[in-house]
Amino acid sequence: MDLPDFSEAAAARLREQVQDRIQPSNPLDTGGSWADPTKPLVYPLTLETFGAEPDFDVIISRFTVPRTGSLGSIGERLEEMEAARQSFPDKLFAVLARTSDQFSDEWAQAVRERRIAFLQGYGRGLRALGRLGEYSRKVHGGSRAPGAIPASTPPRPTGRTLSEIDSKTLLAAAGIPVVKTVAVATADGAAHEAERLGFPVVLKVIAPEIVHKSDAGGVALGLQDGTAVRQAFADLRGVAHAAGANFEGVAVQSMARPGLEIVLGTHRAAQFGPVLLFGLGGIFVEVLRDVALRVAPLGREDARAMLDEIQGAALLSGLRGQAPVDREAIVQALLRLSALMLSRPDIASIDINPALAYPDGLLAVDARVELTD
Ligand code: ADP
Ligand code: MG
Repeated sequence: MDLPDFSEAAAARLREQVQDRIQPSNPLDTGGSWADPTKPLVYPLTLETFGAEPDFDVIISRFTVPRTGSLGSIGERLEEMEAARQSFPDKLFAVLARTSDQFSDEWAQAVRERRIAFLQGYGRGLRALGRLGEYSRKVHGGSRAPGAIPASTPPRPTGRTLSEIDSKTLLAAAGIPVVKTVAVATADGAAHEAERLGFPVVLKVIAPEIVHKSDAGGVALGLQDGTAVRQAFADLRGVAHAAGANFEGVAVQSMARPGLEIVLGTHRAAQFGPVLLFGLGGIFVEVLRDVALRVAPLGREDARAMLDEIQGAALLSGLRGQAPVDREAIVQALLRLSALMLSRPDIASIDINPALAYPDGLLAVDARVELTD
């Protein structure tokens, strides 16, 4: 973070109003405690002087926040800060405190209600603001100020979950390649669709209660002919019944050729908006949590950096004579997920687990979209 100097005019104005009580500099020490009788004059004046400086984007107040009990005079300072925010709505007014372990409920409630950026710990707090500036410049370009924190839309992930097929249809419409999948309710229907798609095929149970299909034995891979398809249909119906789930049929899909399993995902976070996730499938994501995360909107360079960032990045380049995967296809899919989340506020999360990455392109074989309610 840069700490620019005051303009000469601002320094002169401060000097004139507060005489020798404070030294007009950046950072500025207002002297005494927050309960000091001079504060109702000095603090608003200081905030206003900083706010009026065209080159200042962020005005940080270093408070000693109450560890327990009521706000006391800090409450008045917060009112004064609120007034300054109203006067300078394009500036970010933040509170920095050394307290990083404990603060009173009253304080927590006050900053939450007023939507004040409360930074705990000097080093971490300033780094966070530096990152915010960096992010803002990237998103808005040029030298625009970070501005106020956007009103958070709390994610409501309790909403409706789309079926695998509806999820894939939505993704396909957004330009993300998905494996051909159709729903059928009978064994005859399954055999017929398998014939149409061409063998080998995959059958997956459709039952609203079964979310992790393979854990329940609800995925039959590599079915080579009609007999195998009919048998699998009967097996999957058995799986649903054994689990006490409502059997609604099966999803018949082409068996995708082998590729590198990757995971692409996104969810709407309360404070950041849509967050994008990339990782390698299987144990890499489930056990090692080897994933890269970014806040939307994603730029092409961000998406490329995500691919390089994971521990298992070498696998993308092809190990032991394997061909490298098509990185740009993955980048493209991440960009499309980012755009989709921005254009569809009714989507709470998307989970593509897995997609198969190839030397040429990629294919999503499982997908789940959750809507807000
Ligand atoms: P779930 O995640 O609900 O257990 P999936 O649909 O992801 O079920 O299927 C489990 C695994 O089966 C996938 O991780 C993938 O390895 C494989 N798989 C699923 N669908 C296909 C397909 N169409 N082609 C090839 N492999 C598939
Ligand atoms: Mg899956």
